[in-house]
Amino acid sequence: MKTVTDMDDVDDMFLDELSEIWDDIRENYDTSNNSDYDRTVLDCVGELASDPGGESAYVWAIGLAVMAPYLTWLPGAGVADQAAAVMETADRALRDRDCPHDSHPYQSHDDEEDAYLAELLPALADESADWDEDRPRSEWRCPRNAAGFARIGLDIIRPGSVTDVPPRLPLEAKDSISTLSALLHGYPKPWTDIDDEISSQASELTHADPADRAGRLQVVRAVTWYAVSGMVRTKSVLDGLAEAVEKVLPHFAGGDCAHDGHPALPNSGPSAAALGITLSSAGGREIYERGRIASGGDAPLDAVVCPVLMAEIADETLAQLRERRDELFGERDTSHADAEYLRADGRLDIEKLVERTDHKSWNEKHADDLGLWAARRHEQSDDRDRAVLLLVAHQAVIISYPSPPLAVVREVLATMRAVAAAPLPAGCPHEDEHPALPRAGFRAGLAHFWDPAEFPAGEESRSAESWTCPRFAAAVAAECIANLENLYADDEFADEG
Ligand SMILES: [Zn+2]
Ligand SMILES: [Zn+2]
Ligand SMILES: [Zn+2]
Repeated sequence: MKTVTDMDDVDDMFLDELSEIWDDIRENYDTSNNSDYDRTVLDCVGELASDPGGESAYVWAIGLAVMAPYLTWLPGAGVADQAAAVMETADRALRDRDCPHDSHPYQSHDDEEDAYLAELLPALADESADWDEDRPRSEWRCPRNAAGFARIGLDIIRPGSVTDVPPRLPLEAKDSISTLSALLHGYPKPWTDIDDEISSQASELTHADPADRAGRLQVVRAVTWYAVSGMVRTKSVLDGLAEAVEKVLPHFAGGDCAHDGHPALPNSGPSAAALGITLSSAGGREIYERGRIASGGDAPLDAVVCPVLMAEIADETLAQLRERRDELFGERDTSHADAEYLRADGRLDIEKLVERTDHKSWNEKHADDLGLWAARRHEQSDDRDRAVLLLVAHQAVIISYPSPPLAVVREVLATMRAVAAAPLPAGCPHEDEHPALPRAGFRAGLAHFWDPAEFPAGEESRSAESWTCPRFAAAVAAECIANLENLYADDEFADEG
């Protein structure tokens, strides 16, 4: 690549080409170990370093601001530091120059305009080119404007390190918002490791600077809803969230404020996470405040991060985490289920069981306890009840949504494994086929089998021997084991003993 040493060499053809390369780096900044990128940045650094107060400084300062996103990623060793150092030097050399302008373009430049910056350069450098921008060329080329763009570049590389530039969200924050939005909408990006992503939000809260803590807590609040929904099957993820909230609670506790009530924070995961991330950086907080003043709608910043409100949020989040952690991973009491699924005479309430094993959304809320209760009762029952309870447990863990908690899986699996391990007769002790489970009709057949006097035979009735057949039971158990055994990592079982 041709090296440019002074303004005379910056012919517009060359700048055309160079600014396209710079813009390409901006757009595809998220690549690592890219020696071409490193060289291009260092060329630009060299140009600015050779004359940081010179007339063409605006070209190189804007160039570095355009490429700055790459410098937040994984540039070669020392590249970002060299770029930052030369931008600081240029800022110092240029920022206080006298000029006739009331204002400069950098003062209203926000990140949405980054995409149009590089393409301005050729026409900016070439006096004879058409110029139809709102602001005159002279303001763009002014040393003070060059200094402003050097600071914008610095703010991208090291968020919050400079003043007198429009606020912007750190790139990392933008990435986080988009990752969490996809995850919390239920469509995680293909490369997102859900457990890691949620756990990293706990660690961000633990290590947050005091000013960022309220925002980080709001992110944890948002991911907690997801974590306790049953979508997360790793207990340590919930432990990590609870621990992080416990650690920051003292920072908010005992606070006092003059607010007359507090704003309602967003109640959808993606919006709550996006607001939390925004409030977790100085740039984001300023953007929030400016947006509020412009729209007149939202609550003032101090109310939305108020320690009194945050203490409430922390308490709420912690309570939710503890309660659901017990439900999802702790021992479950199913004694109340006797009253629900046994009749007054102590026999199974077969009608209720048949009703609750219908794969309908309204049965989801009963499914976990029902499956566990049936598995626990299975061993102590006679052959006829065992046939019913095995099928009920099998069906209940299918109905459970999104999937049964660890405590349920552990015990249902134990029951199913015992059934699957029982010795089997060489052939079936009956002539007819086994009940066809996936069909809706099996439930009517089940009631008839259990009490033929009370319940009429359905279209597909089977012999009692078919319902109680050990080979049928083994097949049901095998299917259930296949459904359950990969839901949780083995160490989760070990952890809970
Ligand atoms: Zn000026
Ligand atoms: Zn308050
Ligand atoms: Zn059989």
